[in-house]
Amino acid sequence: MSADGRVAVVTGGAAGIGQACAARLARDGHRVAIADLAPAADTEEMIFGDGGECFSARCDVSDAASVAAFADAVHERYGRCDVLLACAGIYPVAHLSETSWELWRQVMSVNVDSLFHLAKAFVPGMVERRFGRVIAISSTVFHTGTPRFAAYTTSKGAVIGFVRALATEVGEAGVTVNSIAPSLTRTQGTTAGPQGELGWFEFTRELQAIKRTEEPADLVGAVSFFASDDAAFITGQTLPVDGGLTRV
Ligand code: NAD
Repeated sequence: MSADGRVAVVTGGAAGIGQACAARLARDGHRVAIADLAPAADTEEMIFGDGGECFSARCDVSDAASVAAFADAVHERYGRCDVLLACAGIYPVAHLSETSWELWRQVMSVNVDSLFHLAKAFVPGMVERRFGRVIAISSTVFHTGTPRFAAYTTSKGAVIGFVRALATEVGEAGVTVNSIAPSLTRTQGTTAGPQGELGWFEFTRELQAIKRTEEPADLVGAVSFFASDDAAFITGQTLPVDGGLTRV
């Protein structure tokens, strides 16, 4: 699949799912712009090592000014954005009773408000050029109602609503908007969190039809497909890539 120098913006590309997808989009031929709070030197090394093209900049996706400054850097460097993969997200493990208003707002701000800021910054250019691919990351927690994830589950449901709404607005302009819903995936974030101690990896594996833990590599094919010309007639959808977790 050759993207022929198309430009892909990947948020959260310094680690985990975003890192794997940034590397795959670069292998597909995209020039990749990585936005992350953390330095993305490892991802850059992976992409340059594969002979790809990328740059990264510090960006807080929950902050409108930070996203606007990043968009300016992308336009200055590459002139446009063809693919937007909104992957940056946080998933604090807490029951609603343990969730402060500040934590609730932080989750909504990083996982949901970011979609507003990113769409405002990058979608008008896609509409103008009559080509674009917006890909967001939802989660199977929206379907499973996993305990201790009240704010997170709500935010990932909002992602599904957002892709449907935006898909409706930009479909006529050749821009598709979809999301992917992973199962519990082994990443820097889930390895550092309490997921292991809580036994969630074993529990989730048992519920899946494919009884192994999902890896970021399991998600890159779906992202590559949604970004491609082959997916031109698919929009407003959320694809579970979850080893069959949500099959029932
Ligand atoms: P991760 O914690 O391993 O990596 C997330 C990256 O996002 C990090 O590099 C982090 O610095 C960056 N980030 C966090 N907040 C940011 C902000 N405000 N601005 C810019 N960058 C920010 O996470 P992951 O496990 O790879 O998850 C990636 C996405 O996939 C998230 O949206 C998450 O909700 C979703 N998801 C993950 C899983 C899973 O089990 N790992 C399952 C379903 C959905």
